Formats: sequence, C-alpha cells, structure tokens
Amino acid sequence: MKSSYLNTLDHQRDIMIRDHLLGRGIRDQAVLKAMREVPREDFVGERILERAYGDHPLPIAEGQTISQPYIVAYMTEALELDAADRVLEIGTGSGYAAAVLSRIVTTVYSVERLSGLAQAARQRLELLGYTNIVVHEGDGTLGWPEHAPYDAIVVTAGAPKVPQPLLEQLAIGGRLVIPVGRSYDVQDLVRVRRVSEHDYRSEQLCGVRFVPLIGAAGW
Ligand code: SAM
Repeated sequence: MKSSYLNTLDHQRDIMIRDHLLGRGIRDQAVLKAMREVPREDFVGERILERAYGDHPLPIAEGQTISQPYIVAYMTEALELDAADRVLEIGTGSGYAAAVLSRIVTTVYSVERLSGLAQAARQRLELLGYTNIVVHEGDGTLGWPEHAPYDAIVVTAGAPKVPQPLLEQLAIGGRLVIPVGRSYDVQDLVRVRRVSEHDYRSEQLCGVRFVPLIGAAGW
C-alpha cells in the first residue's frame, strides 16, 4: 500500500498539472502527459522533497537551479515537438527537463558544463530507467556537433545572444527556444525557427529569469 507521503506527492503533482499548467494555458497533451509521468521529487534534494511540485524553481547542487514546472512545460510546448524528433538540451542541471523531453521524443542529447552535475544527472537518469537520454559534459554554447542537426534545441540558461553554433546545428524546419537578455539574470524567452539554409525567423515569447549560460558563445 502506498504511504501517505507518496499520496501527498501524487496530490501535489495533480495540483501542478491542474493549476500551474492547465490553469495557465499549457494545452499540448504530450507535454501534460510527460509532466504527469516524470517524478519531479526524484530530481530534487531530499531536504526539499516536500517543495518538489511548488510553483517556483528550486536550488540544486553547485549554485544551479531546477526550473519552475510551468516554465519547463512552457518551453517544452514552445518547441512544437513531434515524436520522431531529436532534441538537444543545453543545461542538463538535475536532468528533470531532459526526462520530460524524453517522454515525448525519440532521443534527447543534453549538455552540462559542470562535471559534478553532469555525472549526477547521468547516474540519476540511468537509475530511473531513462534510456533515450545521452548526457555530455562540455560547453553547450558550442552545441554538440557530432549529433547535429537537431529538430529542436532548448537552452535552459540565459544567454547574452543566440549562440551561432546552435543556429548552425538546427535542422531546416527546426525550433530553438532560448532565454536571451542583455543582463546576467533577466531575459526574454525567444523562439528561433530555421526556415531555410540561411533564413531564420525569431519571436519573443515572454520574460524569464535563468541562471547564466557561461561559455565561449555565452557570458
Ligand atoms: N534543465 C535543468 C533541469 O531540468 O534541472 C535546469 C538547468 S539550470 C536552470 C541551468 C544549467 O545550465 C545549470 O546546470 C548550468 O550549469 C548549465 N549551464 C550554464 N552554462 C552552460 C553551458 N555553456 N553549457 C552547458 N550547460 C551550461
């Protein structure tokens, strides 16, 4: 029989779906299903387990964060994913967003610059049975050229501008969702579509706050 503690987390997950996602306009059924399936509590530290489904980001190791559930869902929806897509995520962090993406698409490639986080996320994802996510330690501002082109790229840290290597690694027809801002911690969420070899269309989606994207084509 389930413990009352697990029942509480299930209840909090239901509230997240109903109030924070559906209530704010997330409509993509594949995204809602993935957010329902992935146990967010397995991606946050034990000391803050009870806050796993709160409507806010949470601290993870090395001064980084796991994003607010609504933002994870919003960015995932903005990628306009198809089940056959291959996705590149920059900023593995806890591995949570990669896990959500992996429930929707064929393969997720995820790059994290901090070795401790990359290793921990790789182990966690393996333990939890996510077999279609590959985590790489490195500077994600340079993308991951070996597996390009990608149908979708999502950057989960704030960049000063859209990194050129990511534009180059986007498939024609592909979507890139990235926080871009002149300051270190406040950004506009931007979606870039590659419409042809040399033609990209960009649109601003909303204001966001992310930790900085640090690297050769970042801060
Ligand atoms: N997607 C993560 C999750 O679900 O837990 C949250 C990511 S956290 C908001 C941003 C992450 O981007 C941090 O783990 C940070 O170390 C990473 N990061 C910053 N600059 C990077 C870079 N150039 N390449 C790869 N990762 C980077």
